[in-house]
Amino acid sequence: MGKGFFHVPVAVNEPVKSYEPGSPEREEVLLTYKDLWNANTEVPLYIGSEEVKTGDTKTINPPHDHNHVVGTYHLAKKSHVEKAIAEALEARKKWSKLEWEQRAAIFLKAAELIAGPYRQKMNAATMIGQSKNIYQAEIDSACEICDFLRFNVEYMAQLYNEQPESSDGNWNRVEYRPLEGFVYAITPFNFTAIAGNLPSSAALMGNVAVWKPSDSQMLSAQVLMEVFKEAGVPDGVINMVNGDPEMVTDTVLASPDFAGIHFTGSTDVFKGIWAKIGKNIHKYKTYPRIVGETGGKDFILAHPTANPKQVATAISRGAFEYQGQKCSAASRVYLPKSLWPEIKDFVIEDVESFKMGSPEDMTNFINAVIHEGSFNKLASYIDKARKDKNTEIVVGGNYDKSKGYFIEPTVILTTDPHYTTMETELFGPVVTIYVYDDKNFNENKWAEICETVDNTSIYALTGAILSGDRYAAAQATDLLQNAAGNFYINDKPTGAVVGQQPFGGARSSGTNDKAGSKMNLMRWISVRLIKETFVPATDYRYPFMGE
Ligand code: NAD
Repeated sequence: MGKGFFHVPVAVNEPVKSYEPGSPEREEVLLTYKDLWNANTEVPLYIGSEEVKTGDTKTINPPHDHNHVVGTYHLAKKSHVEKAIAEALEARKKWSKLEWEQRAAIFLKAAELIAGPYRQKMNAATMIGQSKNIYQAEIDSACEICDFLRFNVEYMAQLYNEQPESSDGNWNRVEYRPLEGFVYAITPFNFTAIAGNLPSSAALMGNVAVWKPSDSQMLSAQVLMEVFKEAGVPDGVINMVNGDPEMVTDTVLASPDFAGIHFTGSTDVFKGIWAKIGKNIHKYKTYPRIVGETGGKDFILAHPTANPKQVATAISRGAFEYQGQKCSAASRVYLPKSLWPEIKDFVIEDVESFKMGSPEDMTNFINAVIHEGSFNKLASYIDKARKDKNTEIVVGGNYDKSKGYFIEPTVILTTDPHYTTMETELFGPVVTIYVYDDKNFNENKWAEICETVDNTSIYALTGAILSGDRYAAAQATDLLQNAAGNFYINDKPTGAVVGQQPFGGARSSGTNDKAGSKMNLMRWISVRLIKETFVPATDYRYPFMGE
């Protein structure tokens, strides 16, 4: 038990380093990149105290140079997943009883390790394995993961401080218990920070986790495990099992001790998992918590009073940074006819100035998309847009997978607001623009275009409106109330920062439990109320019963 009401260090966002030519951080990350490029890293499974090498392996290939091998990772069999669950439950016996400040210290240490000695290894692994330029790697695998770890500690302390009132002669207390069982974390390829946060946020709250990383994030997943180990996460508290996603998931969901899922990835996968949980519901000892942040079809909507250069910049950054592979990336844009010629010129100028290639060459703004499946999908949508009658390619449209999976940033113009690329999540550097008529424009016409935005897709993750007219901004804020969980006014729809813009969407974009907030942590606890009465009653009769 604690012997003091401890204050945790005040969380601050990790400063983003510049990596400008000549800076020490640039030199260090490039040297680390070279080392990792040639290291042939071997990624085991982490089960309890063991690093398991099953011998059944797959190679890790950088998306921007797919013939090069930077390592291998071992694949789990069903028995390994079952062992991971057993080890997690064994570890739970001590971990769930450990004082909160000890757990906090471990994850604060992990943040310091990432901010300091591991920073460039995290960044280089993310640059190589997920094809991110140094800035995109830095804001993800250095800064955002530190922010998650530090802010979650602060939020945990705030939660624990929330206590009920007590009346005369009683003391009411609430205890924030971890879930009874284990938490299953499934993570996507696109953010190293999310991969680190999904198992660690649950573990911070006293839970044990079985973590299945994405096949396309194995290099940085390995570095995360190294950090967790060095920070002092005890054996069995976070177990990493790589392997066939369906087999791993089916094995986990068959366990009566499955207590919750912390998922980030695509919508159909999450819906499939939810259905399986429903089917298994009678097996479980407790109702599992189901938390999933999923797909998006994020919009930019400009009012005729918007500033054309600002709109163009929101498109260039919002749609194309990290090759459009952010769940928040703008992929459908609605522009007024009166501004379109000017915005078009600015966007074309921007896109034509982008350099594309390996992240090792830091002059490249654009790198490769994650894998061949993604490349082929994007190429087929571009080909279709080139042929379809109601679409034209404004800029970009070329692709080449001879060395790496390179898709040129592409702008499609459509006359159909329901064209397939206005509705389907492509998850790549392709944005579609619909130009609306703003002749004799008024608030009814603005309401109509807002309604089109609202009704166009099944998703509701992020969205941005740009407007110089406050009434129009207010009207859109109201009309688009359910169209985005993260709604931006005069900004791009990407770039949420932990502690500042809690992130998540509704409709088919997820359960909106807002990663990097107290709301998320609440999903990993089960409150116990303890009422203590100091002098208990000795007579059942109440005064009203008197003659
Ligand atoms: P994905 O759905 O392909 O994979 C996510 C995870 O699920 C991976 O670990 C994968 O191995 C696993 N998986 C795949 N098929 C599975 C199955 N049948 N059963 C169980 N697990 C399975 O997603 P991705 O390509 O890694 O990531 C991109 C997707 O993630 C996009 O849809 C994007 O919008 C979404 N995303 C959302 C957020 C958010 O906060 N809303 C954040 C990041 C990414």
